[in-house]
Amino acid sequence: MARYHIETYGCTSNRGESREIERRLRDAGHRRVEGPEEADVAILNTCTVVEKTERNMLRRAEELEGETADLIVTGCMALAQGEEFRDAGVDADVLHWDEVPEAVTNGECPTTTPDAEPVLDGVIGILPIARGCMSDCSYCITKRATGKIDSPSVEENVEKARALVHAGAKEIRITGQDTGVYGWDTGERKLHELLDRICDIEGDFRVRVGMANPKGVHGIREELARVFAENDELYNFIHAPVQSGSDDVLGDMRRQHQVEEYVEIVETFDEYLDYWTLSTDFIVGFPTETEADHEQSLALLRETRPEKINVTRFSKRPGTDAAEMKGLGGTLKKERSKEMTDLKMDVVAEAYDAMVGETHEVLVVEEGTGDSVKCYDEAYRQVIVQNASERGVEPGDFLEVEITGHSTVYAFGEPV
Ligand code: SF4
Repeated sequence: MARYHIETYGCTSNRGESREIERRLRDAGHRRVEGPEEADVAILNTCTVVEKTERNMLRRAEELEGETADLIVTGCMALAQGEEFRDAGVDADVLHWDEVPEAVTNGECPTTTPDAEPVLDGVIGILPIARGCMSDCSYCITKRATGKIDSPSVEENVEKARALVHAGAKEIRITGQDTGVYGWDTGERKLHELLDRICDIEGDFRVRVGMANPKGVHGIREELARVFAENDELYNFIHAPVQSGSDDVLGDMRRQHQVEEYVEIVETFDEYLDYWTLSTDFIVGFPTETEADHEQSLALLRETRPEKINVTRFSKRPGTDAAEMKGLGGTLKKERSKEMTDLKMDVVAEAYDAMVGETHEVLVVEEGTGDSVKCYDEAYRQVIVQNASERGVEPGDFLEVEITGHSTVYAFGEPV
């Protein structure tokens, strides 16, 4: 669990988003500290109302970068002019606000609280399918709180999903520490079976599968990719955090998978799906990471070109085995993190550039800032549609949109 510092600038909308970030961080067991120097990660929620504000935001980002291990920049300036932080040489993760809670980890999986029950939030139904994982990563503190995987039956989860759809859910988010190992405790690998059954539920809805570590996915990659290809209800999206492009580092992290297994997952999904999103995570600056290991991570990113990438600079969590290892210097970690973040920005921008001019079906999921709505297309890429009330568009609607442009973290669409 991380210690975080958060600063919010601008309007009440930004303040509301920061409150929501904090609520989710608190629920996930992270702790707020007073001041960036005590924090593992600082969050800067920015405003861009006038030029002077922009200069202040950039200056504050530069200061925070020097005071804390990791910096996340979110809010209006991050979304509208995210490249300005990069151009100024600020080493920060530039994110939409609702991606921030997931990014405030040290490569650990999301925490699922004991006996977590489904929740309906607007048209989003959150369905925790299991709790715990099958791993023992050397840098992870979450594991202590969650333990080994404990999977309710397929039938039980299908009934919970059905109840969510009947209650009005249009997007079901399948969550868990590691959804890829769902069912391993009962002797069967059955994520694909569960997804297939959920897609059979009567109704018009979409399903997003949450984080699944490569080890679990690799063993069922053919079955899983087939289920994605056969069911339009499933967003063509997987989040498989590889964490490093070096098998030596993965061994020291005790990640259980090897680089080749991750690559085979990507190849299998490429065979079955024409348009899909690969999301992955990299931890940069793990204590045993050499320059050659770092180069291998960059090469893997270039080779597999994920459309969504989280880059986390390694920081020690008390009581973990990795915390006992002799760490790399802060400057070296920063340099490597910056190099990887720059590459990430190029790779992600290329994916969004390719979308411009295309038409996609999107599901409107929630209201955005101003009069916009936030939507997701078939591959779970975020698309913002402006002037929603004028167009009579609201959460739960399905629309055809033409992609007209993009920012650092989402695309813009016009209904057609
Ligand atoms: S898979 Fe690894 S990082 Fe995720 S909860 Fe388990 S031990 Fe922690």
